[in-house]
Amino acid sequence: MLELGETKVGEYIKTIGLWRNKAKNVIALSQMLVDDFDSIVPEAREELVKLPGVGRKTANVVMSMAFGIPTMAIDTHILRIGMRMGLAPAKTPDDVEAILMRIIPEEFLYHAHHWLILHGRYMCVARKPKCEACIIADLCKSKEKTCDVPAAIVPILDQEIPT
Ligand code: SF4
Repeated sequence: MLELGETKVGEYIKTIGLWRNKAKNVIALSQMLVDDFDSIVPEAREELVKLPGVGRKTANVVMSMAFGIPTMAIDTHILRIGMRMGLAPAKTPDDVEAILMRIIPEEFLYHAHHWLILHGRYMCVARKPKCEACIIADLCKSKEKTCDVPAAIVPILDQEIPT
């Protein structure tokens, strides 16, 4: 990355949002990895978040994808559907993460992160959720649900909001 430099990295990633800033951070974090971490990406969240551009969400993604550590990265989609579906009814990403980590069995955590993001991005979308086609409509207790599939009584969805 350092040999490529910011301009070249930018050219590779310029189809994504905020690419200029991201290219800058990629170079800065690469330099920090070389200087402070012996060129080895750390596993620990507290070390990962020291890297430029890396917050808790990104650290969780790296821990999960690169190191197989069960985590739940909360993006805008998971935050929205957690509240909407009653699965993780909390207002902050940290609280949603805490609830999901508690209620999702560990064996499913690695994939659950992607299932939830994709569900929020393509099915339970922000403006007009596609409830008629939703395969979990029978589990969903959302007031915004637009199909007439009744919600089953599922105790796991009745989670307390952390204080
Ligand atoms: S039924 Fe509708 S509101 Fe409920 S999870 Fe599915 S898409 Fe979202």
